[in-house]
Amino acid sequence: MILPKLNKYISLLVAVIFIASTNAVANAAIRTGNACPKKGLTQSYSGKLFTCVKQGSKLVWNKGVPIKSATKATPKPMPSTSPNAVSDQINIKIGETCSSAFRGQTLVTSTGAYICKHDEISAFRWYETEIPKVTTSTSPQPTLVTPAATQNQGITPLTKPISFDNLDSYWTSIEAYKKVKEFSAAQPKLSISKTIHLSPNVVNRQYSKYMAGLEDIAQLWAPLYTNPKFHLILFTEKDSEWIDNKQRELMGSALINPTEQLQSYRMKDAGCNVGGFYLPNIILFCVKSDEELAKSVNAEFSALHSFPHEYTHLMGMISSEVSRFQISSRERLTPCWFWEGSATFYGFALGGSTQKNFEKSRLSFLNELTLPYDLKRNQEAGTIRRALLKNDPAIVASLFKELEGEVGPGLDVQNAYALGAMATEVLVAVYGQEGINKLQLEFGQSGNWTGSFYKVFGITVDDFYRKITPYLASQAEKFTN
Ligand SMILES: [Zn+2]
Repeated sequence: MILPKLNKYISLLVAVIFIASTNAVANAAIRTGNACPKKGLTQSYSGKLFTCVKQGSKLVWNKGVPIKSATKATPKPMPSTSPNAVSDQINIKIGETCSSAFRGQTLVTSTGAYICKHDEISAFRWYETEIPKVTTSTSPQPTLVTPAATQNQGITPLTKPISFDNLDSYWTSIEAYKKVKEFSAAQPKLSISKTIHLSPNVVNRQYSKYMAGLEDIAQLWAPLYTNPKFHLILFTEKDSEWIDNKQRELMGSALINPTEQLQSYRMKDAGCNVGGFYLPNIILFCVKSDEELAKSVNAEFSALHSFPHEYTHLMGMISSEVSRFQISSRERLTPCWFWEGSATFYGFALGGSTQKNFEKSRLSFLNELTLPYDLKRNQEAGTIRRALLKNDPAIVASLFKELEGEVGPGLDVQNAYALGAMATEVLVAVYGQEGINKLQLEFGQSGNWTGSFYKVFGITVDDFYRKITPYLASQAEKFTN
């Protein structure tokens, strides 16, 4: 279901890359007794700081300790020249993630010194550190870098919750990812029934990048899909015959149009830029070579985002809990801006965001996702971006109106990915994953999208388009090429 009709350009973006070894572990939920990758590593979850400890021969997460707020810690003597005033405005919590503005920086507050560094898994976090020595010999010299807020593109700490009146251009997506991760981690552990099929040539490639977020996305959708069961097929462009045979074997009667559905035909046009969800319960990806994956941060980001994207389609199409409509029927399809946009968003939240410096990739990838719409219409690349920059609710509404139909042949879906992903960011940041689940369940019963949207969120779809217009403009402004 992913990008079946898109041209080569977009498939290019949707192809991917990666990092092998620690990914599976990195994406596993942090729970007492769960395996962890490295002794001494700390991770915060649900208000606790967990430490990776050795138990017998295994490395597991300990029971965790409540995270203390730095502002409540015991005061320590401070060098008098430290710029406390600025640092104290920032609420640092040990183990919590720190924004990109603070990466590598040490901040000194009245309670101690804190460094923002990578946790070697997926995020930058605050750690306690030594208070920097201040040179006092001749003239006092400040040893600290000025905290970011002032020097880094105006990013300031989030001081009030994200709402339609406060769609912060930096924090909205970050908050949405955080909510998704916390919701996923809070679900009871699922038993995931998966069968992974590796082609002869894929074993030499970084296929685990296409499995990023696998457990997390299954846990996220646990309330709507309790007993997940699927096949994941990973192959390369050198395995045409193998992948066709595998598809024939696993798809059975769902294989209706071989020249459209079989990967050998798709790869003739698009090379290794293919993948997707196929009935009855198959997710498959062509895994790019290391060289292809290394060509751009987008290539890697796209690969990392792939699994949660397709799993979201799988859940929507085949879970008997999310919808009363027949499995695989068209009545299950939400408007394509949400169908593809939410899948893309979850791909970012649980896959792409495992990349270092993912915010830059997120913006760059969103930008690339808007280009096929322009190209298809022989418009100058960047036309959509400039339209968003106008901050005009009428333009945004008309773009979304084009995307209210169902995904399928004949519908121009190119804009659904970028616009829908940003719209979903807002929905999640404002209403939480709980809100999204309510929407899906309501729609799954009524089959009426606009009615469900209003019933669950209390605003009309049209008002929603209007309210997100400034946010879309703020993101388009930051798009990088
Ligand atoms: Zn898709």
